[in-house]
Amino acid sequence: MEVTFLGGADEIGRSAVLVDGSLLLDYGMASESPPQYPVGDVDPDAVVVSHGHLDHAGAVPALMSSGDLPPVHWTPPTRELATTLAEDTLKLHGSTPRCPFTDTDVRRLTQTSETHGYGETFEAAGYEVTLYNAGHIPGSAHVLVDDGDTRLLYTGDFHTGDQRLVAPSTARPEADAVVCESTYSDVSHEARDRVEKRFAESVKQTVWEGGTVVVPAFAIGRTQEAMLVCAAHDIDCYVDGMGKRVTKQLKRHPEFLRDADALRGATSSARFVTGRDGQRKRIAEQNAVIITTSGMLNGGPAMTYVPAIRHHPTNKVALTGYQVEGTPGRQLLDTGSAELDGRVMPVSAQVELHEFSAHADRKGLFEFLEPYRDTPVLAVHGDRTTAFAEELRGDGYDARAPELGDTVTL
Ligand SMILES: [Zn+2]
Repeated sequence: MEVTFLGGADEIGRSAVLVDGSLLLDYGMASESPPQYPVGDVDPDAVVVSHGHLDHAGAVPALMSSGDLPPVHWTPPTRELATTLAEDTLKLHGSTPRCPFTDTDVRRLTQTSETHGYGETFEAAGYEVTLYNAGHIPGSAHVLVDDGDTRLLYTGDFHTGDQRLVAPSTARPEADAVVCESTYSDVSHEARDRVEKRFAESVKQTVWEGGTVVVPAFAIGRTQEAMLVCAAHDIDCYVDGMGKRVTKQLKRHPEFLRDADALRGATSSARFVTGRDGQRKRIAEQNAVIITTSGMLNGGPAMTYVPAIRHHPTNKVALTGYQVEGTPGRQLLDTGSAELDGRVMPVSAQVELHEFSAHADRKGLFEFLEPYRDTPVLAVHGDRTTAFAEELRGDGYDARAPELGDTVTL
């Protein structure tokens, strides 16, 4: 088996792994400016998508522009989320170089889609493929590819720890090689219940003092997690941005949720913002909690809420995850001001970072890999994949970090 790394090798973003030039695992995009796509011309016989995040699924419709449409295999939630992302990319950037596909390509995607549940083995490009719960977001999967001789386990993004929205990854299928994500290979997450408790207390404190809290959150996964946390701690909240639509979609797939009743309850107690900026400005003046996109303050209704609450130190911006270098969220944390919608704005409101993570940390990665001590490991999807591979070798593993464009024979 030959595995080629077309993206997401020594980086995070544009994940794409090609097996024997035929079976493509993920086809993501990195949404920086200009956006980045996997390298090389690829014409796969079939595609398997691990989960519905932009950096794994964002460029899949671009594979639909040639004559023979490859079947696209994924779980039902991944299909919905990937389609939503594609429609969003079209809406924001359609007919510009920032969108690598057309609405026709997105329509074709629905014709060629084949959905599968966890643990159901199916055939794709002549391989036997099985998806296992990866505990990252609803529908996220580890992908096991078997050619009858070699079994490749592509982890996708995964989490071995607790989240309210999804159950953690527990499946450890036998494999002859593991392509392993390593986003947080040098990070130790604080226990989830402590992160959650501090977040809830902080939000309640601000509300009690008469302030407004803006909770920037990714639409997919984090918005719903924040809703569940708020509901569990009796915090009333507004929900705005693309996360509203994603919440409705995820509720249609209860078997991919940890506790579908809890999400139903959180949805019925939350208030979904339906209006435009006039309504948003009125909400921002209330003594309220608002969960909204985008998670790193580079767009979405947060562009209305944060400027509206920024002047008063009683108010708070409670960021809910790691803020990538170069994003307004990072800028705000580091400097106390941020460029929002093209304008640099000082923010007098309190700014906090609450590290809700959907990825395994260093301990989680080592725990995951424990059953694969005798299996070659290829570390990908990280800022320090070479160092991580070296640390694994130091622990007795046969590990390496492929570079962009590398082909590895297994
Ligand atoms: Zn992801």
